[in-house]
This record gives sequence, C-alpha cells and structure tokens, in this order.
Amino acid sequence: MIQLEEIATRLKRAQSAAIFLHMRPDGDTVGSGMALCRALSMRKVRTEVLCESDIPDKFSFLPGTKEIKKRPTFDAEVYICVDVSGTARLGALEQVFLAGAKKKTTVNIDHHVSNTRYAKYNFVLDRASNCENIAELIRLLGVPVRGEIADFLLLGMVTDSGCFSHSDVDGATFRAAAECLDGGANLSAIAFETMRRRSRAGAELYAEVISHLRYLSDGKIVCALVTREMLACRGLDDSVTEGMVDFGLGIDGVEVSVCLLEVKKTQYRISFRSAGRIDVNAVARTFGGGGHILAAGCMLFGELEEIYEKIAYAVWQNEG
Ligand code: 5GP
Ligand code: MN
Repeated sequence: MIQLEEIATRLKRAQSAAIFLHMRPDGDTVGSGMALCRALSMRKVRTEVLCESDIPDKFSFLPGTKEIKKRPTFDAEVYICVDVSGTARLGALEQVFLAGAKKKTTVNIDHHVSNTRYAKYNFVLDRASNCENIAELIRLLGVPVRGEIADFLLLGMVTDSGCFSHSDVDGATFRAAAECLDGGANLSAIAFETMRRRSRAGAELYAEVISHLRYLSDGKIVCALVTREMLACRGLDDSVTEGMVDFGLGIDGVEVSVCLLEVKKTQYRISFRSAGRIDVNAVARTFGGGGHILAAGCMLFGELEEIYEKIAYAVWQNEG
C-alpha cells in the first residue's frame, strides 16, 4: 500500500486539486473533504470540493460547507476521493472522475474494508473514521489542526464513530480527537447539530417510523420503513432518515437493524447495522453494495414483502 507520506509529497507540489465526496454525503466525507480543502488552500494549492448531492442542512452550522460544488468549476491537476469506497459512490460525478482519471493524478483516501482501490495512489486504513486518516495527512502537509480544520476533522470523527461509541474506536481515535479539541474544535455544537437536533416534522416522522417496525427471523432482524408519502406529507427530504437505522440496534434480541428508504415504487435504498455477530458488509455485497462489517448499504428492487424475504435470506446465509 502507498503510504500517506508519498501522497503528502505529491500534494505539496500540486497546483490545483478537486476533492470528491460520496453521494448522500455524511459527516465523515464532508469533514474529510472540507478539512483537506482548507489544508491544501493554506499550502497555496487551488482546491474545490465536489459532491453530486445537496449537503444536508445539519452541516450548515459549519459555514464552509456552502462552498461545496455539484460540478467542477476548473480543470484540477489532482483528483482526490475521500471516504469513497468505489467510484459508483460518486453518483453523477463518477463519469467526471473516470474521464479525468485517464490523464490526472488520482488519490483515494478511505477507511472502508470494501474499498476497490480505483486510484493511482490508494491509502485505505480501516479506522473508526476517515477523518483520522485525513488528520494524519494534514499533519504530513505541515498544516496545523486549528479553527475550521479542527472542526471539520472532529465532525467526521464524531459522526462516524457514533459519538465515540462504536467498537472500532480506539486510543488513536481519542488522540486524534483531542488534537482537534486542542485546536479549538467545538465538540458540543458538533455533537448536538449532527446527532440530536431535528425539526418538529423530523421528530414526528421518527416517531411514526419507530412505532411501525417490522421484525423478521424471530426478531433477529428489525426493519424500519420510510416511504415517499411519509416524507412528502411533511415536506421532508431523504437526509432526515440518516441515523434512523441505529434505533433498532438497541432492541433486545436484534442482530441486524435495517432501514428501507423508498426511492420510488419497487426501489429501496437499504441501510444495515450489525450488533456485532453478522458481517453486514458481506450481506450488502450480495446485493451489489458494501461498506463496513458493522454498517453497510445497498439498493434493492422489488415489492416490499419480496425485499423483506431477500434480506432475511441474505442475513441467514451470512450467519457465522
Ligand atoms: P448508510 O447506511 O449510513 O448510508 O451507510 C453505511 C455505510 O455503508 C457507509 O460507510 C457507506 O459508505 C456504505 N454504503 C452505503 N450504501 C452503499 C452502497 O450502495 N454501496 C457501497 N459500496 N457502500 C455503501
Ligand atoms: Mn466514513
């Protein structure tokens, strides 16, 4: 594997860079991209951050997120993907990345076990958040972790680690987070804005979803369902569903929690979370998706009952 030192050396002599986030962006991809953008800008590398999707409102308390573009505004010398396990995760920007990849320097900095090593320079280390990888890169670039950079790095660390509660959090996660706090990052604001705060309509949706959970395989699997109608009647968008899948994991007897978000009739975006025994990356992979062992996702097609059956079967096949 390429070391971060080599990537830092290459980036130090770059004139310009475009940083790509994954679609349906989460705190880790936004935090990774914005922190690296600020660090490269401080080193006089002209840099912009790109994401095909709208950036969820819950990140707007960090004003820099408004600079994120849907399409490139200049022809950058280096393309960098952050928290992107495969090019399909770029959504509408996949074609831009692949077209550029032929003649540009491409860099892939990620923490997903399912990463497909699609760039020229690949650094994939399975830490609790990709922001820990970016923090190390920023240190190698010789840029101090202060101000906005500290906030953006902590954003990814807090959100991807479930506020430092997931099983892959280790001492290194806390040391990296401590460096952000020393640099002035606002932990309480980041935790509140991203993990607790919701609109009234969002709270009502949450209550409805949680009161209609569907159990499969004798309660080993629990499924939450969000339909277009449930969102539309409250004027909500898809981003409010993020985190809903976590509720089911706290229920006694549940091994796998699932959230099904209706995209359109007979198409659902699926989120999986595992309590520890079942590898949901393997489950998601059977449907063409992926992610981490304890958190993964994919797209499923068909009638709802058919989808519940597919999920139950795939989980059963992956029971170790
Ligand atoms: P979430 O359920 O929060 O959307 O995603 C959980 C994890 O699985 C994230 O790390 C995300 O990157 C990954 N993931 C979600 N959907 C997909 C997918 O369709 N394909 C792949 N390869 N990974 C996914
Ligand atoms: Mn991540």
